[in-house]
Amino acid sequence: MKKFGSCNSIFKGDDGFDIMTVETDISFGLFFFKIIGLADRMMQESRFRISSALRNSGFGTPQRRNEKVTVSLLPAHQKKASISSDLAIATSYLIASRQISDFPNETLIIGQIGLDGSISADEDMAHIIDMGIEHGITDFVFPNSEKRIAELRPRADIRIARISMLADIDKIEFENIPADDSVPQHADSAPIAFGIDSLDGIDFHKRAMMIAIAGMHPILLSGIPGTGKSALARCATELMPDLTPEQAADVRVPYGHAGIPRANQHTPPMRTPHHQISRTGMLGGSQNRHVGELALADHGLLVLDELCEFKRSTIESLREVFDQRGAHIRKKNEQFFLPFRGLIIATTNLCPCGLTGGEDDRACRCSRPRIRTYQARLSNPMLDRFHIKTIFYLHEKDRSPQPDSGQGSAVAPMAGSFMRRSVLEAREIQRSRNGDEGFIPNAYLSMDKIRRLGISPEAIAAAEYSEKASLSSHRLITNSFRIARTIADLAGSEQIEKPHILEAFQYAKTSPF
Ligand SMILES: [Zn+2]
Repeated sequence: MKKFGSCNSIFKGDDGFDIMTVETDISFGLFFFKIIGLADRMMQESRFRISSALRNSGFGTPQRRNEKVTVSLLPAHQKKASISSDLAIATSYLIASRQISDFPNETLIIGQIGLDGSISADEDMAHIIDMGIEHGITDFVFPNSEKRIAELRPRADIRIARISMLADIDKIEFENIPADDSVPQHADSAPIAFGIDSLDGIDFHKRAMMIAIAGMHPILLSGIPGTGKSALARCATELMPDLTPEQAADVRVPYGHAGIPRANQHTPPMRTPHHQISRTGMLGGSQNRHVGELALADHGLLVLDELCEFKRSTIESLREVFDQRGAHIRKKNEQFFLPFRGLIIATTNLCPCGLTGGEDDRACRCSRPRIRTYQARLSNPMLDRFHIKTIFYLHEKDRSPQPDSGQGSAVAPMAGSFMRRSVLEAREIQRSRNGDEGFIPNAYLSMDKIRRLGISPEAIAAAEYSEKASLSSHRLITNSFRIARTIADLAGSEQIEKPHILEAFQYAKTSPF
């Protein structure tokens, strides 16, 4: 007489995480316990963990019951690396061996089993639920230790059961995720202590960063090492607004595919790829659906530290990202558009040794040709795409933000809490202004739209004067007005005033080389 049991779990394959069906078939005879379906070694070893755990939980084991156990993992043709599938295999065995009954069909079960029968996991539960729903699964079993269940959105269409010991598998109870008022679904995750507050004497650059984040303007911080440019780039995440539930759902997808857990679902992601990264590493694609840094930084920050150390081809591959808010990617012979709704922040030295631009340029040991090669990695069109550019000097403390502050552009102390609040307010102004079009950050507004929002005659005159005086490019003028729009929003000003456009020119016209 044959006995059969089945449930679902997840595996990591060549294409990232996916759902698998675990089927167990038992017949009597000489004991064996076999797992088929291209399981990796760790999944094979789960047989030993499961046998011990069954014994220690008071269940019969295949060996004691003299059973021939075949566990089949489907789809059979895909290679499977183990991730928390022990409990699913154990459960399907217990169903097949009729040691538990009334277990719902089609349940998706996640958990690693310890030898003592304890159950744990560290996967992203929200992503697993999304994947399960795509497969029509409504019942989920998760380890009780999984605190992230508390962060899940309440929803009536699925049921979850929690379990901490294998011995309790026949006593689990499924329930909807409750709308628990005590768990804030979207609390403001502003840090209590801002790391940015420890960066002294660079208020000019902090203000530039605040403007960049408020209007989503790509920003390039250049200058000599040790002046705080990299530190400021890495602190930028503290100023970013929390993700909306929709954005958080977008972000979960690439992290799920890449198998990278995220500690806090509401915090915008920050990626800081190494400068040796390839074009594919940056954009994704290639044969095995590699998830690129760009996808992982969506709705967050892509920080390119030492931009001129990156390969020129990698840098140039980002050109489309600046212009189109995304990139066309080729994967498995099909082309599709990968959106990028995050912000690019870059830093660079002025020469390979970094000492150019310091107190004494003669300290630089780089030859002229070497400096030229270094700086050439960043083409002029690429440089233009960074709306905001600032240069860090040795004696930053001598500078103050916005010297000719007139109407509206008040000099404010650059405390982290103030900067974050200002960013949130400016983002809210941009959001409410766009109405049904959704949120278009100032960095992507057309010149037409900016004009319609209002520019004072003095600001127009100042821009025309500047355009004639310095033969600025069309792109630079447009970018300056985009920055000025953000500065006006930060100041709570309806229209762009002269001080706003003058400050914007400072950031737009700066060139590190
Ligand atoms: Zn040098």
